[in-house]
Amino acid sequence: MSYDEFYVKSVVRSISDWPEPGVIFRDVTPVFKDPKAMRITCDAFIQRYIDSSITHVACIDARGFILGSVVAYQLNLPLVLIRKKGKLPGETIAEEYSLEYGSATVELQKDAIQEGDTVLIFDDLIATGGTVLAAASLIKRLGGQVAEVAALIDLPDLKGSQRIQDSGIPVFALLAYE
Ligand code: AMP
Repeated sequence: MSYDEFYVKSVVRSISDWPEPGVIFRDVTPVFKDPKAMRITCDAFIQRYIDSSITHVACIDARGFILGSVVAYQLNLPLVLIRKKGKLPGETIAEEYSLEYGSATVELQKDAIQEGDTVLIFDDLIATGGTVLAAASLIKRLGGQVAEVAALIDLPDLKGSQRIQDSGIPVFALLAYE
């Protein structure tokens, strides 16, 4: 791990037994509040994708929006929102999935992605991988191709990033918490 990554990891806050017993919640809000950590984080993603063939950044409700929008702005790419059920107006498609705790549905506007778009999916954290796989499914249903999944944090013990890679989608995470 580089010094910069170590710095960002030191800023992430771990909260035990939240939102329910047994879960260690990795709180990234202190990263948003720390300009140095935020800059290191966003710059790492921008450097990784600056010369890529990605045409769209699709970010996941809600913390994925914050990092994804900075990266899309810097790469001068269209930003697409994958939102929780009932938040997007107009014609949408939906996917239901299981979470580390509970279940949920994500939605995407039908005109957000076109056939042939090459999409980077962005979220703050990969746990079981269910959210990202549901997001990938939405993009594929509209004819898009998922180039990679980017996240600030991976929880490899929960095997979500492995599930995503097994489905044929590469994963890049800045930090891992074993
Ligand atoms: P999953 O679908 O299981 O990969 O869950 C990923 C989503 O749930 C991300 O959008 C995270 O924001 C949130 N999440 C799941 N587990 C945690 C955790 N331990 N700490 C922080 N966020 C989590």
